[in-house]
Amino acid sequence: MKCPACGFADSKVIDSRPTDNGGIRRRRECLKCLRRFTTYEVVESLPIIVVKRDGSRQNFDKSKILQGQVWRLFSWVFTDTLSINPLLNILFLYF
Ligand SMILES: [Zn+2]
Repeated sequence: MKCPACGFADSKVIDSRPTDNGGIRRRRECLKCLRRFTTYEVVESLPIIVVKRDGSRQNFDKSKILQGQVWRLFSWVFTDTLSINPLLNILFLYF
C-alpha cells in the first residue's frame, strides 16, 4: 500500500482491528515519511458465473431461474401429450 503523502511503497502496520462488516481496519505508518494512514481490508465476493449453452458467460441471476421454472411448469401443464385434458395436470400439481 503506497503512502498517500509521499508515495513510498512500504509501510508498517501499527494497529489492526476487525470492522463491523467483517473486514479489517489497519493503521499504518509510512517507513519513509512516518505519516500515518488507515486502510480497510474486506473479502472480495466472487460473482457466480453461469455458462450458457452457446458458451457465453453471464452473472448468475436468481430471477432468471424462477422465470425458467415458471416457463417449464407452464409448458409441462399445456404440452403433456399423455394427458387427455391439460387441466388434469393442474389438478395433479395441487393434489
Ligand atoms: Zn510517506
